[in-house]
Amino acid sequence: VAKGAGKSQWRRYQPELHTTIVERLELRAELDRAIHDGGLLLEYQPIVRLDDGHAVGFEALLRWNHPTRGRLTPDAFIDVAEESGLIVPIGEWVLRTAIAAAATWRKGQAYGAPYVAVNVSARQFRTPGFVRLVKRELAASKLPPSCLMLEITESLLLRDDDQVWDDLAEVRRLGVRVAIDDFGTGYSSLSYLRHVPLDVLKIDRLFTGTVTTSTQQRALVDGIVRLAHTLGLEVVAEGIETTDERELLRRIGCPYGQGFLFSRPMPLPDALRWLRRTELAA
Ligand code: C2E
Ligand code: MG
Ligand code: MG
Ligand code: MG
Repeated sequence: VAKGAGKSQWRRYQPELHTTIVERLELRAELDRAIHDGGLLLEYQPIVRLDDGHAVGFEALLRWNHPTRGRLTPDAFIDVAEESGLIVPIGEWVLRTAIAAAATWRKGQAYGAPYVAVNVSARQFRTPGFVRLVKRELAASKLPPSCLMLEITESLLLRDDDQVWDDLAEVRRLGVRVAIDDFGTGYSSLSYLRHVPLDVLKIDRLFTGTVTTSTQQRALVDGIVRLAHTLGLEVVAEGIETTDERELLRRIGCPYGQGFLFSRPMPLPDALRWLRRTELAA
């Protein structure tokens, strides 16, 4: 509390605080139940080659069918999941479910199997046994490790933790690929990019959304794409919504993208239908 804050201010703020804590506790209990009652689901959004629109992968995105509030996206509950540690069992479920989905769409694929990209929170990645979990799930599903991509965030890398580095190197030795998500939104010093074991850089949609607005913005994205190429990283642009954005990104030299222009995230059956349809159109 700031110096000089009187009693009256306490009285004014307390009810809000109270509501928030109760709400969060409630949310946490409901989330705990959802893990066991099948209340969580994954949607899949295609990641495509910008020149021909073919899917090279799908990103698995978590949803929660909340009993009263409807379908929630991660913004509404990922904080609570992190704070409470529920992110660990949730993350396990996500990994297992996403790998199973990839095993499904691998069957009868004419154009090489699209990978599945799984978001892994820093807390989940740093849980002892995470690499073992990845190994176990891959072995159980018989999915080739190259069909799995883990999306991590800058916050994980900024911890400067040797264990994180070792674990990243180990999952990559398995053949699993690692992407840095939301690139450009954090506090990334460019220097770490040279050292971190990474395969893919995902340009945040903040940049994608402005690529058509000015030559300056375009130059910025152009710089990121060149940087990625120089470091030997693949590049994916997030949040492509218009054909202009797609065209500009393609011309800049960004080979891959995802966004509402191609498809919104879809439940698995729809994703499979989408895949068949786009393959037939080729
Ligand atoms: P993200 O990994 O950067 O995922 C991309 C987000 O952008 C998704 O939001 C997706 O639905 C949205 N998006 C895709 N294309 C477009 C577009 O063209 N326009 C706009 N405006 N948005 C687009 P979503 O599904 O709400 O997920 C939000 C974030 O939650 C994700 O950001 C990711 O950081 C996190 N998340 C999602 N699933 C998981 C999970 O299983 N585990 C963890 N730890 N985090 C997850
Ligand atoms: Mg992601
Ligand atoms: Mg992202
Ligand atoms: Mg994002």
